[in-house]
Amino acid sequence: MKIKDYLDKNYDISLIALTYLLDTNKSSVILKSEEELDDKISVKLDDIIARYNKGYPLQYAIGEWEFYGLNFKVDERALIPRFETEIIVDFLVKSSYKKDKILDIGTGSGAIAISLGKNLPASEIVGSDIKDKALSLAQENKERLKAFNVSFIKSNLFEEISEKFDIIISNPPYINQTDYDKLDERLYFEPKSALLASEDGLYFYKRIIKDAKAYLNQGGRLVFEIGYDQKQRICELLNESDFKNIKSMKDYNDFDRFIIAEKG
Ligand code: GLN
Repeated sequence: MKIKDYLDKNYDISLIALTYLLDTNKSSVILKSEEELDDKISVKLDDIIARYNKGYPLQYAIGEWEFYGLNFKVDERALIPRFETEIIVDFLVKSSYKKDKILDIGTGSGAIAISLGKNLPASEIVGSDIKDKALSLAQENKERLKAFNVSFIKSNLFEEISEKFDIIISNPPYINQTDYDKLDERLYFEPKSALLASEDGLYFYKRIIKDAKAYLNQGGRLVFEIGYDQKQRICELLNESDFKNIKSMKDYNDFDRFIIAEKG
């Protein structure tokens, strides 16, 4: 089949999948649309389209996904990296002015830890996760992307952490049960434990905020990705724990999506 035949039938999905299968960008795929597709690639593309049409997430069907310009392996061991999360990675990359020690709690695929590591080569990044499966994927991504300044540790929140950091970042599970029950079916292929959180989605923020100061250097920053309606409550929790300079940032949909606070 020609590339064009796929684009005519299934434009968006074929175009995205082909950028990965042909290791190129969207405009090159379109420019090559009269070309005949190699049989092996055709089989792979048919398989991706069939799995997507059955409701499987496109990212898992492709098996890799770009995050902050890096190509990560993605599968059901961990949450698919979201493009909004690039906003907070970019903020930290641009605002880190020294060799920082950074902890990424709930690292999942390692997307945050590794993209920080690759872009802050003098810094030292530790990614933690409670799940062995997630850690094995994160480790594979570290090797795939040659992120030598990133290491991973199995830990339930701070349980196995014994050092202090300049930055603690986390994109923990934050979706409450009511919202979880209403998610797009495709998201149910992702680990529930990476999305759903008790106490109205606030459980992990409460646990992290309670202990974070003991693991932050003076002036160190605590950085969260948060749910669209959680800013006020999390700011209150940070205030109660004496964090200073509490700031929020929005995502591309104008939702409050990130919070940054300093250890006073
Ligand atoms: N932003 C993700 C979503 O909406 C949720 C990620 C999370 O719970 N940390 O699917």
